Amino acid sequence: MSTEHLMGVYNRAPLEVDRGQGARLWGRDGTEYLDCVMGISTNALGHANPILVQAVKDQAEKLWHVSNIFKIPGQEALADALCEKSFADVVFFTNSGTEAVECALKTARRYHVANGQPERIDIYGFDGSFHGRTYGAINAAANPSYTEGFGPKMEGFHQLVWGDKAALEAAFRNPTTCAVILEPVQGEGGCRATPDEDLRWMRQMADENGVLIIFDEVQCGMGRTGRLWAHEWAGMTPDIMAIAKALGGGFPIGACLATAEAAKGMTVGVHGSTFGGNPLAMAVGQAAFGEISKPETLAHVNEIAGYLKQQLHGLAQRFPDVIVDVRGKGLLLGVKLVPNNREFMGWARDEQHLLVAGGGDNCCRILPPLNLTLEEAREAVERFEKTCEFARSKMAAG
Ligand code: PLP
Repeated sequence: MSTEHLMGVYNRAPLEVDRGQGARLWGRDGTEYLDCVMGISTNALGHANPILVQAVKDQAEKLWHVSNIFKIPGQEALADALCEKSFADVVFFTNSGTEAVECALKTARRYHVANGQPERIDIYGFDGSFHGRTYGAINAAANPSYTEGFGPKMEGFHQLVWGDKAALEAAFRNPTTCAVILEPVQGEGGCRATPDEDLRWMRQMADENGVLIIFDEVQCGMGRTGRLWAHEWAGMTPDIMAIAKALGGGFPIGACLATAEAAKGMTVGVHGSTFGGNPLAMAVGQAAFGEISKPETLAHVNEIAGYLKQQLHGLAQRFPDVIVDVRGKGLLLGVKLVPNNREFMGWARDEQHLLVAGGGDNCCRILPPLNLTLEEAREAVERFEKTCEFARSKMAAG
């Protein structure tokens, strides 16, 4: 076996994975790892979670797929649950985060068409954001390393500098603006959280100017920050929201949530998906959402996140030559490093058998399962500390 016949778009770590259980992952050579990547914030209830395994087994023996030309009871049940626990009135199910973003962008543009303002096509994203790899999503994030070489940029997409309030205000006031799209806490960009007061200000500006707010909570939603939705910390809501990743606990699923008003242009025939909302995904989604949305799960996230953040701040003080900054919200934690983050991740993996994810701004992200135990959190800190020591000795050796 080799990667010879795989399209060469990934720079893969030299680790052949075999199986997982909870926060542990085993390589094919039997090495055990503490997994603080979790499929990049996806296996939120740990590997091989028995509740999710059972949900897959039960549904697999019953019905996998039918198509959206039929009524799918599991889809209705999961949409009910999502709407009950969010700002949304309606949901469209997808198979991935980027498809959920795609649906969100289309929903926003259709809204203005339904309002008789088809000229409102301008969508503003931010530097450092990541919305997925489909054409709409790469244009919305407008990160040149993802858009270059793929033909002309799509019309009506613009990138603002994160934190440039004056430019954002001008965007809100522009009469052809359709929507603003952002991750309340950036994931890939390095765990940057937009301040709560800025999110509230954005809501006010959007309302005053007839602009929609799209949140991409594909990574920061579903309990990751210690609230079910990251925007809850700010006490405001978007008009449209894309979610995915943890919604299936590792099973491919995504969803675009919207208010009835924002979704009013999404009428019969304007959008669709073959696999989106299939019975198998819906069964796992219901099980995962049921567990993640429990108050005790969210309380646990806050407890573990508080511990980890405190410990990481302690390490930042002890290792100022290795750690520049600790940031993020809940269990979406970013550590900005002095040594190259890719190198640091390799040291953590090979020397300490600790898996951490990369991120923008030379960060490494710590994304454990939401049900990480305190003991496992202690172990993660210990391994991280030893990696810092290793990094220090490596840097001293030049
Ligand atoms: N949006 C955000 C914030 C993400 O982090 C990701 C994936 O990392 C996506 C969208 C795209 O999701 P997917 O890879 O499932 O298409």
